[in-house]
Amino acid sequence: MSHKREEKGYIAVTTCKACGACRDVCDRDALVFEGERVIRIDYDRCNLCMKCVKVCKNGALIYVE
Ligand code: SF4
Ligand code: SF4
Repeated sequence: MSHKREEKGYIAVTTCKACGACRDVCDRDALVFEGERVIRIDYDRCNLCMKCVKVCKNGALIYVE
């Protein structure tokens, strides 16, 4: 699943491998899961701290400027 946002500066979610690494680093509960996979970011919660982008070794979370 992917998520696109019209505005600049968002985190695109590509193919999540369900490793769970991002779950613990997001202290704003902004990652939306479907089972163990991230399907989108809740931008009402996300402050673009980039912790999840850095921790995702699979490149499933990409910051798009
Ligand atoms: S950028 Fe930060 S606040 Fe947004 S989803 Fe990732 S870890 Fe959570
Ligand atoms: S760290 Fe990346 S691959 Fe792992 S659960 Fe999060 S988005 Fe998916």
